[in-house]
Amino acid sequence: MLVIFGSSIKLLNYFEDDFSTCENCNQTGVTYRIVQKYYHVFWLPVFPLEKYTGMSCNNCNYSRDNIISENSATYEKISKTPIYLYSGLIIFILLILNVLFAVVMTT
Ligand SMILES: [Zn+2]
Repeated sequence: MLVIFGSSIKLLNYFEDDFSTCENCNQTGVTYRIVQKYYHVFWLPVFPLEKYTGMSCNNCNYSRDNIISENSATYEKISKTPIYLYSGLIIFILLILNVLFAVVMTT
C-alpha cells in the first residue's frame, strides 16, 4: 500500500513589531510570523513538530526563518498549537482503544 506522508507547515500567528530593527536595513518595523511544522499522513495532520519564528522587514522585505530571540520565545509561547494537528494521533488512539475494548468484551 502506498502511504503518502511528510511534513508541512501552518501559519499560527503573526505580530507586527514597530520597535524591532531589521538586521538587513536597520530600519524599525518588522513582522514576525509564528509557524508550526507538523507531520501528515494522506494530508491528515498526525502530530505537530517544532514551532519557529520567521521575520520579514516592513521596509526592505528582507525575510528570515528560525529567529531566536526573547520576542520570538514569547510569541511562540502565546501561539498555541491547534488541537486538530493531533487528529491522526487521536484517531489512532481511538482505534487502539476500540480494539482493546472489543478484545475485553469477547473474553
Ligand atoms: Zn529591512
